[in-house]
Amino acid sequence: MIPAAFDYVRAKSVAEALKAVGKDSKFIAGGHSLLPLLKLRLAQPGRLIDIGHLSQLKGIKAAGSGLRIGAGTTYRELLESKLLRDRYPLIAEVTERIGDLQVRNVGTIGGGLAHADPAADMPPVMLVLDATFVLQSKGGKRSVPARKFFRGPFATVLKPNELLTEIRLPALPRGAGTAYVSFDQAASGYALVGAAAVVALAKAKLSRAELAFTGLADTPFLATLPRLVGTARDGAGDMITQVAGAAVAGVEPNEDIHASAEYRIHLAQLAARRALAGALARAT
Ligand SMILES: Cc1cc2nc3c(=O)[nH]c(=O)nc-3n(C[C@H](O)[C@H](O)[C@H](O)COP(=O)(O)OP(=O)(O)OC[C@H]3O[C@@H](n4cnc5c(N)ncnc54)[C@H](O)[C@@H]3O)c2cc1C
Repeated sequence: MIPAAFDYVRAKSVAEALKAVGKDSKFIAGGHSLLPLLKLRLAQPGRLIDIGHLSQLKGIKAAGSGLRIGAGTTYRELLESKLLRDRYPLIAEVTERIGDLQVRNVGTIGGGLAHADPAADMPPVMLVLDATFVLQSKGGKRSVPARKFFRGPFATVLKPNELLTEIRLPALPRGAGTAYVSFDQAASGYALVGAAAVVALAKAKLSRAELAFTGLADTPFLATLPRLVGTARDGAGDMITQVAGAAVAGVEPNEDIHASAEYRIHLAQLAARRALAGALARAT
């Protein structure tokens, strides 16, 4: 339980953090995911670059009708933001469920996304909200849609020399409803399966309907929902039941000591139905 030796650099700015990157360095923000890996020696970086205190990486700002969130913003800071609750209640709803008070006080949204645990709660939210992530290295910045960011269990498109600096959220359609439903593993609180949904209406018909899963497969993913857009609000209940069944077709579900593949599929269909119905009920 004692990590291997490493150098420690407490960066004073993003530029200094990027300059400190070496062959086997790693960034550390809140340390909630990284420290257990170090202690188990599943990760043995030669240098830790501490970015946890960088004010440049913090903050929640309006950008038109959308929002920009600094990657170093803690879950607690997310929960304290009225702007975030007003514009993206889905993020607040999910954040309240993450870990416990200690985890939310120190863990950062960027650290959680970069870690890419296949059962983490925030990734499916980023998928349905169609977020874009800003990645920065010494060579410059690039923007990557959340929908292209997650590559597999604990794998993303982030290069070792890149820092996730900002999360950009486009405006939701006016009156859109959102919901997150997860069935949690009792001890850890991680999702056995979770589903996030966005539903918008125009002229009493569904004009947008999106659903993403976590915990179900190797990586969070956006489901295909044939024929749901265009359905009349009044008749949408039956259609939601159908598409929730179809949404898991062809998925290779995870299987572990906590849940069999069959059980995960069952939970996924339930979560999908409840998340879509919940989002529809909140849409105006
Ligand atoms: C007891 C406990 C319960 C938890 N329960 C839940 C839960 O219910 N649901 C859930 O979703 N999660 C849960 N988590 C996970 C938690 O959300 C993450 O541990 C936390 O968000 C990671 O953020 P951090 O700032 O601590 O990252 P760190 O541990 O510092 O870093 C994690 C990884 O991301 C990299 N990294 C960090 N910041 C950046 C950045 N800006 N750019 C590039 N790479 C970066 C690091 O190099 C490292 O590889 C739990 C964790 C604990 C310890």
